[in-house]
Formats: sequence, C-alpha cells, structure tokens
Amino acid sequence: MSTIGSKLQEVKRRLQAACAEAGRSAEILTLAPPPAAPGAPPTLTLLAVSKTFGAEAVREAHAAGQQAFGENYVQEALAKIEALADLRGGPLPVQWHLIGPLQSNKTRPVAEAFDWVHSVDRLKVAQRLAEQRPAHLPPLQLCLQVNISGEDSKSGVPPAELPALAAAVAALPRQRVQLRGLMAIPEPAATPQAQRAPHRALRELLAGLNAGGLALDTLSTGMSADLEAAVLEGSTVVRVGTAIFGRR
Ligand SMILES: *Cc1c(COP(=O)(O)O)cnc(C)c1O
Repeated sequence: MSTIGSKLQEVKRRLQAACAEAGRSAEILTLAPPPAAPGAPPTLTLLAVSKTFGAEAVREAHAAGQQAFGENYVQEALAKIEALADLRGGPLPVQWHLIGPLQSNKTRPVAEAFDWVHSVDRLKVAQRLAEQRPAHLPPLQLCLQVNISGEDSKSGVPPAELPALAAAVAALPRQRVQLRGLMAIPEPAATPQAQRAPHRALRELLAGLNAGGLALDTLSTGMSADLEAAVLEGSTVVRVGTAIFGRR
C-alpha cells in the first residue's frame, strides 16, 4: 500500500480507538453527510487536509478510499479542483471543503467550486456565498468558525457574538446555503486533558444554539495532534493533514 494509504489507515485506527473510548460508532465516513435527522447519533467524518500538497497526493489518497478533502488557500485549491475534475463525477466522488480564511471579495469561485466552507466568521461572507451559489448545485454547507481560545491573532467569531451571527446565517436562503455547525482551531495544549477543554467549549456552544431553536449537527474540530481529544468531546469532522500527507 502507498505511504499515504497506510497513513490514512493509521489515522482511522486512531479515530476508531477514540470512538471506542467515547462509546461512539466506529464508522469513519470519508464523505461529510447531508443534514442528520433530529436526534440522530453523531457521525464522524475524516477530512483529509491536502493544503500545500499537489493533485497527485490527493489522487493517491482518493485511490485509498478517501473522498473529502480540505484546502486552505483558494487559488491553490481551485487549481487542484480543476486538475482533479475527473474524480468529481466518478464512482467515488470527491468533496471539497474550504477550511482557510475567506475574504468577502474572493467568495464567487468558492461558491462555484466547493461543497463546504468551514471558515465563515462574518455575515457578509455568508450573504455573498448565498447570492453567488449557482442554482443548479446543492446548497453550500457552512460552518461558523469560532475563536474558541480567544487569541487575538486567530480568525473566528468571538463566542459572545456567535448567537446573532448564527441566527442571521441560518436565515439565508436554504436552497443556496445551509448552516451545519461550528468549526474551531484551538491553541495547542500539552496534555490530553487540557486538549479536551476547547473542543468541549465548542460542543457546548453548539448545544446552546440548538437549545435556542437551530438544528445544527456538525462540530468541525480536531487535527493531527488532538483528534482523540476532539472525538471524546463529540467532534463530527476531524481535519487531518500532517498525519496523512506528512510534514508541510
Ligand atoms: C492545516 C490545517 C489543518 C490540519 O492540521 P494538521 O495539524 O496538519 O493535521 C486543520 N485545520 C485547519 C484549519 C488547517 O489550517
């Protein structure tokens, strides 16, 4: 098996061990699912973060069964999406997720080419994505990025401003954009116990929004170094780069 294929297997083993510890289903999805029915148990999707790696690395991961890919930089991603257009309509379709910062003047190609955007942190960006999403495509799936560790430099909406932003984004036309949940990039923590706190805080924010009347099912949190902590706290999408593709 290729190196990328064997690393993917190793990441799945780590995820399954964490699922067993958490008492969750051991099924690891390779494609993020459509909205869950209310009350359904959480699913777990492995998003392979291919930023800085070329189209051939993505092809190799895809050959090993991976379908959902995360990208940070819009221009780099568009070139890869174009180079891999043949995989879109194949028997194992690929799904493209934007996980990096998005400026409001760059939304059009994102609305046209991606399936998910995890990094929405302003209403204006969501409004433009809704206006620019082509009518023939399924609704773009959105997460709101939350500045969970309160770092000045990080993007993301501050928790105090989240309820208003979530309500406004959820009210956009649902044929164009669908708000699915929350995303966070916690600051690194030294111990497994300390790693869990920000993922737990994100889960509690999601629960609060749902108690307020929304129906959100997605917690996009956990990366190579803290995916176990994220799964133990209810993550439904882990975004894993280094552990699959190697060091950047
Ligand atoms: C790069 C990146 C990841 C993947 O991080 P690794 O530590 O390489 O697994 C996940 N999420 C975001 C937003 C990233 O920018």
